[in-house]
Amino acid sequence: MTCYADLAPSSRRIMTPGPVEVDPRVLRALSYPILGQFDPEFTALMNETMEMLRLLFRTGNKWAYPVDGTSRSGIEAVLTSLIEPGDRILIPIYGRFGHLLQEIAERVGGEVTTIEKPWGTVFDPEEVIAAIDRVKPELVIMVHGETSTGRIQPLEAIGRECRRRDILFVVDAVATIGGVPVETDEWCMDAVIGGTQKCLSVPSGMAPVTYNSRAEKKVLARKRIERGLRIPQVSPASPDFMLSEAEQRSYIRSNYLDLSQLQDYWSPSRLNHHTEMTSMLYGLREGLRIMLQEGLEARFQRHRLHERALIAGLQAMGASLYGDPSCKLPVVTCVNIPDGIDGESVRGMLLEKFGIEIASSFGLLKGRIWRIGTMGYSCRRDNILQLLGALEAVLLRHGVCLPAGEAVQAALHVYDEEASPQAAV
Ligand SMILES: *Cc1c(COP(=O)(O)O)cnc(C)c1O
Repeated sequence: MTCYADLAPSSRRIMTPGPVEVDPRVLRALSYPILGQFDPEFTALMNETMEMLRLLFRTGNKWAYPVDGTSRSGIEAVLTSLIEPGDRILIPIYGRFGHLLQEIAERVGGEVTTIEKPWGTVFDPEEVIAAIDRVKPELVIMVHGETSTGRIQPLEAIGRECRRRDILFVVDAVATIGGVPVETDEWCMDAVIGGTQKCLSVPSGMAPVTYNSRAEKKVLARKRIERGLRIPQVSPASPDFMLSEAEQRSYIRSNYLDLSQLQDYWSPSRLNHHTEMTSMLYGLREGLRIMLQEGLEARFQRHRLHERALIAGLQAMGASLYGDPSCKLPVVTCVNIPDGIDGESVRGMLLEKFGIEIASSFGLLKGRIWRIGTMGYSCRRDNILQLLGALEAVLLRHGVCLPAGEAVQAALHVYDEEASPQAAV
């Protein structure tokens, strides 16, 4: 028999827009013994996780729980549960993940209208509001932080105008949750999807979602309980398992991603659905606990600080940043690949020689930019300084002419200034 080696993944500095490094406390939580999914000890952990998710999403919503699957499963659960075939949907797109929303909305039968901005920019909220008045959609769906282009979209004005017109506003906050402010209630967002493997620094495999009673109303109107779980009806007028015509038309087409059934599972009735991912729930709960111990505000400031140091270093080495700076996503920094340089060769050497991973991009930005993530547990001073030193060395090795030694000094200066504002003047 082949003898397979012991599992021994290298320790990396992961400076991508996800997955990122995971706090050792979360790794430890993942290794604890399994509890049964209806064990009161376990359901208590489920309830605590919901409480912490409400704090993360900054919401008073009853529903805030993880969908099991990567972030995309959370997006698909929300869209599949909220979009009825024929619903008019408006999707403003400014990067790859906007196209993903369109893709999913069309697959579940939405009548999708899109508006697009050139990659590297975002929408003026007025442009979206004008499109809303033109399209008159039932739902507006958009991305908060576009990791493909490193941009962040202001949402508050759009949310307010959707609420005034009684339109559901759904937001993909996968990249931003836990790294920059996401105000579910204040920005009038009816459903929000977060991610674990980005700024929360938990492995990929769960998607925290929250939605309010406006969204729940639509979900419940489309509810269909699984055959094997129904309590048989005795009345001959409603024979068991028969669906009304309205139910036939509009029931939620996915079983696994059906929010109406998932919420029963996360409620005191604990109506069985799938088997909860025990270990992932331990990991998510620990990740949330770490986040609350740090404090949301302090966490946002930490992301800002390391972004500042990274940018100072990159600029000192003469790198040019991609995209409109006025809408830069704080947790992803995009760098134009210098002319004549093979971006993949630089990335390969960073990983192979220095154990540092940065990302390339998608579609029309493939081969044109590198993307550097500063998310969650990966967002640390030692990572920033090591990356700047390594990138400088690798670029020199590739024949790029740059002022050697400046980058790390510029970043150190930012950190000194932060530590004692007066002394550094
Ligand atoms: C990463 C990301 C996703 C997809 O997440 P998966 O966990 O890979 O499914 C969706 N939207 C945005 C904005 C992202 O950054």
